Amino acid sequence: MTTNPIMATNAYRLFVNRLCRSCPMKEQCSLFKKFIEQQERNSLESTPLNHSEVQTIDNHLTVSSSQHCFLCLDVLHRYTSDEFIQQIKQTAQSTTSDFQSFCCNLTLPLNLFIRHAYLLKFLNKYVGECNEKDLPIIKDQWRNVMIDRLEEALERPYQIESPFEINITFDFSGEAEELNFLRRFRYADNPKLQKSNANEAFTRQAVTSVLNNITFEDFEQYYKPVINGKTSCTISAQHDSVYIAGRYNKYSRTLSQTPWIIDGIRKADTSVEELIALPISKLISAKHYVFLSSGREDVDVRTLGRGRPFVIEFRQPSRILYQPEEFHAVQDEINTSTKDVRVRDLQQVSKEDSNQIKEGEEEKTKCYEALCYTDTQIDQEELDRRLASVANPLVIEQKTPIRVLHRRTVMTRQRSITELCATSIDAYHFRLRLTTQAGAYVKEFVHGDFGRTKPNLTMILDRFVDILELDVLAVNIDFPPMLEIENEQDNACDTNGK
Ligand SMILES: [Zn+2]
Repeated sequence: MTTNPIMATNAYRLFVNRLCRSCPMKEQCSLFKKFIEQQERNSLESTPLNHSEVQTIDNHLTVSSSQHCFLCLDVLHRYTSDEFIQQIKQTAQSTTSDFQSFCCNLTLPLNLFIRHAYLLKFLNKYVGECNEKDLPIIKDQWRNVMIDRLEEALERPYQIESPFEINITFDFSGEAEELNFLRRFRYADNPKLQKSNANEAFTRQAVTSVLNNITFEDFEQYYKPVINGKTSCTISAQHDSVYIAGRYNKYSRTLSQTPWIIDGIRKADTSVEELIALPISKLISAKHYVFLSSGREDVDVRTLGRGRPFVIEFRQPSRILYQPEEFHAVQDEINTSTKDVRVRDLQQVSKEDSNQIKEGEEEKTKCYEALCYTDTQIDQEELDRRLASVANPLVIEQKTPIRVLHRRTVMTRQRSITELCATSIDAYHFRLRLTTQAGAYVKEFVHGDFGRTKPNLTMILDRFVDILELDVLAVNIDFPPMLEIENEQDNACDTNGK
């Protein structure tokens, strides 16, 4: 009997003897399957291989087994078992109890691609022409045998774009060692670089591009697979954020919108954000939340009328579906817990709808009322006369106000004012109503900010004017949908801004 040169290769020993029984990597690759069958026939005809060399692995490897399938690293048998499905189910359900669909993301050890490239080069050399397309894709094979069973176990449909992602990450204990094989070729022309990049991580792309330049002979000579390495797996899951929207009123002139913390020290007991978000976060248990609002008011400014729209994004929620009654209850809880803040229209919104809060930032208008003081007397007739001479809309230019210079870039913004009227209180005081384009600095429009805002009310009334109190009466955006019809005095402000 003459020894076939194929049988003397390392590749032969690895690919013929070290696969799980009926490994899809073999069964689904016609060229490889034909080759293996041929080998089996040959070995029956001639003297069988030494028994100790034939190490066909059983399909049901135990965890303690020191062997793994050379071409699938056990991903296609140990990690397709019913027991593994139960593990996935447990992780999924304990992450988000009421997910409605799911998808699976698999991350595979990179050395798997080295092994597949080796197989292709082996087949090309000894069996017949083939390329990457002829090899089954492990992730597809895994999904083929798992998705139906997972759908049944989880009682939810599999959807590629599902907001609930189950991440299954496989690690192989010999991965780093095998990747070292690639380093030899990655910097073949530059040993210096090879040394300095000894710990450089490989991306999937880098692995593929290096593999293209490695010959079968290189594999035979230099590739030392870690044949007693072990595969392990971590399962995690996460659901897309839950978005809760509403509108809030702020009745306090000493409450900041966000927690006021300087150098790690709290400067105020609470904030609008905390008064609203903390009770809601008890309902929606999530990893963390982000509070967004349609603009923000200063500490000493109240927000009246229907209030200011806000959205809270709850990330990695453990539950996603809620009943309207649950929002009513938490809204009542907020509104009875404080006199400083009031919430309405609390509801769950989609991610797409939540974007409305940031859209149209330039176009939306806000309506204000300001209590103003002048240093020289002015009566209603003069107020009316001077304001009547103002253009409508009035376009003002505002340099970044002095009071926010420390946190904003210096620039000049143009903003328009579409409503401007005043009601005298006494000789030195009047109430000013104005509707502005969002982003206008109202305080600066009134006193002029040392000429940084032009024109300003001090110029228009031809005397020094300052602002004593400011209220936001309306933030004119059509979001979130109104849930209650109310008739409040504060709503009197004309929402068209005319
Ligand atoms: Zn296998």
